[in-house]
Amino acid sequence: MSKFRVKTTLVEIDGDEMTRIIWKMIKDHLIHPFVDVNLEYYDLHVKNRDNTNDQVTVDAANAIKKYKVGVKCATITPDEARVKEYDLKEQWKSPNGTLRAMLDGTVFRAPILVKNVQPNVRTWKRPIVIARHAYGDVYKNAEIAVKGPGKAEIVFTDVNGKEERKLIQEFKGPGIIQGIHNLDSSIRSFARSCMTYALDQKIDLWFSTKDTISKTYDARFRTIFQDEFEKNFKRDFEQHKIEYFFTLIDDAVARVMKSEGGFLWACKNYDGDVMSDMLASSYGSLAMMTSVLVSPNGDFEYEAAHGTVQKHYYKHQKGEKTSTNSMASIFAWTGALKKRGELDNTPDVVRFAEKLEQAALTTIESGYMTGDMSSIADPKAKSTLGTEEFIVAIASKLKDLL
Ligand code: NAP
Ligand code: MG
Repeated sequence: MSKFRVKTTLVEIDGDEMTRIIWKMIKDHLIHPFVDVNLEYYDLHVKNRDNTNDQVTVDAANAIKKYKVGVKCATITPDEARVKEYDLKEQWKSPNGTLRAMLDGTVFRAPILVKNVQPNVRTWKRPIVIARHAYGDVYKNAEIAVKGPGKAEIVFTDVNGKEERKLIQEFKGPGIIQGIHNLDSSIRSFARSCMTYALDQKIDLWFSTKDTISKTYDARFRTIFQDEFEKNFKRDFEQHKIEYFFTLIDDAVARVMKSEGGFLWACKNYDGDVMSDMLASSYGSLAMMTSVLVSPNGDFEYEAAHGTVQKHYYKHQKGEKTSTNSMASIFAWTGALKKRGELDNTPDVVRFAEKLEQAALTTIESGYMTGDMSSIADPKAKSTLGTEEFIVAIASKLKDLL
């Protein structure tokens, strides 16, 4: 069988622990035997980040900017314990944080659905993708605990020293105050990322705030989204017959619970924090959730939503059998290959990636899965497979499909 040829270089970012083990298995069993691709490799193993003073992460981000598409393995974000465990020079920053900052992107998370694991919400038939704004609001706040009577004001002093102030509250006794902010530039780049993603996936975009109550702050989000839509996206949305829909956050939540899914839900920072955990748990397993970072310039970085699965790695190191689910990492590869094929105009590469996804899904749907899934599958699993066995089973299905 001749291999599928990927025209342009794909940026590959390796990572840590159990996901690094899975990563190699995916390449050995599912990618290299079928695909001829030039991979530009960046090793973000925590020890290599340490050796390069984290330059390798910066280089990886620049490579994604150059080639537009990257695929990333999960990585350790070092804390004190990791500094000891790996004898690191310092607590290096989160690689995902560095990538996000350099690409100025938004993270989108989508569940992978299979017939034998039902979402807890019965009406959901298609995935609901969530996009969380990752800047400002309560995550970058200033707070004061008020001890007794007094006046609280909000003050802005411009560069010329001119003041604007508003009364928050005349306190008669103890209480609390919070100051939050956001930036037009950040909100606009969030809007652009969401609209770019919705167009890419050809799905509707929902956005929600509490603009009836917050007539300046939340209304600003609505206005910027609307402006960005009218100026840069409306025509393309109409052409692809998809919709941009704005509503109040409480109305959005009510509609989401009654919907069939199949749309992108853009959320302010706090809403996204809360709602993405609700979605993930309702859909079943963290290992069935994909994640992609999309920059407003149209750079794409695909990964799994979960971490390095540390506990399974320690078992693996002791020589014990593991049953780690590789679905999200496989879908990171198929997402990147599909995008590469689309940008290169090589539909056979897109078709290969779709076949690989189909092989992975049918493996689970025919009853062969890893431990995290067999505990929630209905009908019950025929067999709970080990980490590599599961990937080998997918490879065998893939050969049949091709
Ligand atoms: P984790 O890797 O997300 O795993 C947490 C638990 O979820 C696992 O112990 C396992 O539960 C279950 N799980 C997650 N992925 C699974 C999979 N593919 N198959 C089966 N079960 C899965 O989080 P962690 O172990 O707490 O974090 C480890 C490291 O990941 C940390 O150093 C953190 O910095 C890093 N991290 C990286 C990223 C990223 O690169 N995107 C994201 C989050 C965390 P059971 O043990 O019950 O089987
Ligand atoms: Mg959270």
